[in-house]
Amino acid sequence: MPVRDEAAKLAGEIAELRHAIHREPEIGLDLPKTQAKVLDALSGLPLEISTGRALSSVTAVLRGGRPGPTVLLRGDMDALPITEETGLPYASAVPGAMHACGHDLHTAMLAGTAKLLSARQADLPGTVIFMFQPGEEGYAGARHMISEGVLDAAGQRPVAAYALHVTSNKLPGGMFSTRPGPMLAAADQLSVTVHGRGGHASQPHRAADPIPAAAEMVLALQTMVTRKFDVFDPVVVTVGSFHAGTTDNVIPDRARFLATIRSYSAASRATLAEEVPRVIKGIALSHGLTADVEYAAEYPVTVNDAAEAAFATATIADVFGPGRGETAEFPITGAEDFSFVLNEVPGAFVFLGACPPDRDPENSPTNHSALALFDDAALAEGTALYAELALRRLAAG
Ligand SMILES: [Zn+2]
Ligand SMILES: [Zn+2]
Repeated sequence: MPVRDEAAKLAGEIAELRHAIHREPEIGLDLPKTQAKVLDALSGLPLEISTGRALSSVTAVLRGGRPGPTVLLRGDMDALPITEETGLPYASAVPGAMHACGHDLHTAMLAGTAKLLSARQADLPGTVIFMFQPGEEGYAGARHMISEGVLDAAGQRPVAAYALHVTSNKLPGGMFSTRPGPMLAAADQLSVTVHGRGGHASQPHRAADPIPAAAEMVLALQTMVTRKFDVFDPVVVTVGSFHAGTTDNVIPDRARFLATIRSYSAASRATLAEEVPRVIKGIALSHGLTADVEYAAEYPVTVNDAAEAAFATATIADVFGPGRGETAEFPITGAEDFSFVLNEVPGAFVFLGACPPDRDPENSPTNHSALALFDDAALAEGTALYAELALRRLAAG
């Protein structure tokens, strides 16, 4: 039976698992209930299973009956701190937590794939590592799993790694999208405290006002973006938080702001890490003030290997027929910690449209919205692609 038909046969139980995970979302690195559901779904399968120490990850290794390379498939498991407003029958029962990024689908599809491929164990020409990962949403769960050895779980490094990500908007339901090279941005965080000296607002010359200096820094960062970076290797600097003072007639002691910094190449990322603190320190100095600058490296650029992206595109066309896959023209400004895996192993990150058929993908609420909906119809198709990527990549040697 074709893999796609086998995945369709599993669709009911994959949806059940997805709904159970959706109802009980957990945030961050510690997802004990989600982990228990995954372990339950995998029980009885011929897998070598290990769980994380610093996080509630699940690593499952399927060793095929024939010799061959190793391939890694990743599904993330964590939810977001959002109160769900979808009104779904299986909506989150936990106030302040919601699977608004569709990771419940990824987890359920990966468990379905483990079942599907386990049934083919005897013929499998190599090994598959199933990486069930907590803490994608800002907790660098993938980095933790790598340091706990996920890439060496099978005893030999994977030759390729793949991740799927559903999207509630933009792509029509059932449409796959990937591209060679940068797929998602690097995301780093800037945190600045400008130290001045407070005083009476009517006598600024007797104080050292941090507010004009901080305001100048915000504008200087925007100028830096246009003067220091190639327009064809774009960067984004957005100050999303800016706080100083308490009232109109008091000069405060300090001003603070936070910025997210996005880039699409390792070179621009390194330049930003040098330029941004220099601009801020220089402006502080020119005002006779000091500034503390924390520049936290968060997620690297998610870079698809050109050959692996082409392989994924060809697999999609062959399995699903024409019109079901697109090569994205541009990367996405979001960030992904699958980037840590792709820094070690060539692979591809593939988006899958899961917009319900009665919504317009152009206007549908986005991932991370309290109203985001992901269609169960994506489950069998995503499972089929995970399985086909593994089977075909192992067969290619
Ligand atoms: Zn997300
Ligand atoms: Zn996500």
